[in-house]
Amino acid sequence: MDKVTPKSDVFKANLDRAAPLLKALRANGIGHVIDGKVVTSISGDTFETRSPIDGAVLASVARGNAEDIDLAATAAALAFKGWRDLPASMRKKLLHRVADAIEDRADDIAVLECIDTGQAHRFMAKAAVRAAENFRFFADKCADARDGLNMPSEEHWNVSTRVPIGPVGVITPWNTPFMLSTWKIAPALAAGCTVVHKPAEWSPVTADLLAKLVKQAGVPDGVLNTVHGIGEEAGKALTEHPAIKAIGFVGESATGSAIMAQGAPTLKRVHFELGGKNPVIVFDDADLDRALDAVVFMIYSLNGERCTSSSRLLIQQSIADRFIEKLTARVKALKVGHPLDPQTEIGPLIHERHLAKVCSYFDIARQDGAVIAVGGKPYDGPGGGHYVQPTLVTGAQPKMRVAQEEVFGPFLTVIPFRDENEAIEIANDVRYGLTGYVWTNDTGRALRVADALEAGMIWLNSENVRHLPTPFGGMKSSGIGRDGGDYSFDFYMETKHVSLARGTHKIQRLGA
Ligand code: NAD
Repeated sequence: MDKVTPKSDVFKANLDRAAPLLKALRANGIGHVIDGKVVTSISGDTFETRSPIDGAVLASVARGNAEDIDLAATAAALAFKGWRDLPASMRKKLLHRVADAIEDRADDIAVLECIDTGQAHRFMAKAAVRAAENFRFFADKCADARDGLNMPSEEHWNVSTRVPIGPVGVITPWNTPFMLSTWKIAPALAAGCTVVHKPAEWSPVTADLLAKLVKQAGVPDGVLNTVHGIGEEAGKALTEHPAIKAIGFVGESATGSAIMAQGAPTLKRVHFELGGKNPVIVFDDADLDRALDAVVFMIYSLNGERCTSSSRLLIQQSIADRFIEKLTARVKALKVGHPLDPQTEIGPLIHERHLAKVCSYFDIARQDGAVIAVGGKPYDGPGGGHYVQPTLVTGAQPKMRVAQEEVFGPFLTVIPFRDENEAIEIANDVRYGLTGYVWTNDTGRALRVADALEAGMIWLNSENVRHLPTPFGGMKSSGIGRDGGDYSFDFYMETKHVSLARGTHKIQRLGA
C-alpha cells in the first residue's frame, strides 16, 4: 500500500484512513471473539490474511478448530436463554445501537473491506451503510418476530406462535463479507437466537470488527461469537456441533452439499444461499440503453464476485450485433485499478487461487469455440496483485462450459436467441436458479417469462435492487430457503401450535 501514489484527494484520504487501521491490525492480529473476549486458538495455530492488492500480510489470524468451536457453541448455548427472554423492545434497542456503531465506523469498514477483499471503494462505501440498514430493519421487527396466526376451529381456539430455534451457526463467504454477514446475523439476533459466526478465511478483517462493534453496542457476551479458521476445520466442526440447531450458509453449491452431509447426524436445519449462473434476457423491444447499463453493472460491479451477477447475456438475434458493439465499447472502457481509488470500477480478485480459476476460463472459452471479444488476460494493476481484465465472451452456445459454470469474476458470456421460447429454454438449461433479469417493453411477455424462469428472484426491466422485506434465495443448485423480511424468521424460529379447548368437544371414553 505504501508504494501507491494517489491521483486524487479522495484516494489519498482513503489511503490515509487505512494506514493506522492496518498498523493496528498488523500489531494486534485477529483473534476469535468468544463469550465477549478476544482469544487465541487453544492450539495456538494461526494463518495469515493477505491483501489481494499487493500480497502484503494484513494480519495473523487465529486458526480455530473443533475445540474453539466447542467453546463458542457452549458460550452461545449459555447465553441463549437470557437473550431469548430479553424483552423484544430491549433487543430492538441493542440492535439499533449496533447499527449506530456500524454507521460511526462506516468509512473504516469500507477501506478495510477494500484492502482485505479487493472490492472497489465506490461499492464498499455503500456496503457498510447497507449493513447498518440490515440491523435497523431487523431491529424494528424484533417485536413481531414471535407473531403467529389465529386459526379457530369449532371446538378449539388454535393459535401459532414462533420461538427462536436456539444457538445457530452462520458461515459466510468472502465476497462483500461485512454486508453479507450482517444479512444473516441481524435476523438471527432479532429472532432471539445466539450465533457462532465462521467468516471466510480469505476475508476475516471486517468480521472481527463486526464482533467488536456488537460488543461495544452492549449486546451481552456470548450472543455473537466469531471463530476464524478454515472451512474444513472450524466450519465443519460448527456444522457438526450438537448445541448448534441450524446453519445459515452462504457459499458455493459444493460446500452446501458437504454441510448438509456434515449436519445430518445432528439433524441440522439448513438455509443455503449458493452459486448462480444468472441470465439477463434482452428482447429487441427493450429500452436498450437502460438494458445496457444494467447488463454492464450486474456483471462488472463487485469484481463480478457476486452471486446475483448476470453472468449470461441472452440477446435476441435481431439486435445482437448492435447491442454487442455497444457492450464491447463499455467493457473496454471499464476502469481496473486500486480498490481505494474512487475512479476504480474493478479491483483485484480476492486470492491468487481465485484469479487462477477465473483465468482458466479463458482457455476453456477458446477450446469450446467461443470468442474472447474483450479481455482474456490477467491485468498488471497497481500493487501487482490479482487483477484481471474484464472479459466479454461472444459466440457462445448454451451447453458450453462458459455458459454453464459459475466463473465468479468480471466475465460475461453472450448467447444469442431467436424468440421467447428459446430464451426461456436457454435460461433454464443450467443447474442453478438464483436470479433472472428480463428486459422487454411487452408487459405480457415480461410476465410470461417471469413465470417460466426457474429462479428464486426475477427483476423485470431492472438490475438487482434489494428491498429488505422481499424473499431472497434460489432454486435448484442455488439454494434452499429464503431470507429477508419475515422469511428470515421462518428459518431462525420454530413455529409452535397452541390449541385451547372451549370445553365443549366430546372426548372418547376408553376403558370406561
Ligand atoms: P465457499 O463455499 O468456498 O466458502 C464459504 C464459507 O464456507 C467459508 O467461510 C468457508 O470457510 C466455509 N466452508 C468451506 N468448506 C466448509 C465445510 N466443509 N464445512 C463448513 N464450512 C465450510 O464459498 P466462497 O468461495 O467463499 O464464496 C463464493 C461462493 O459463494 C460463490 O459460489 C457464490 O455464488 C456464493 N455466494 C452465494 C450467495 C447467495 O446469496 N446465493 C451470496 C454470496 C456468495
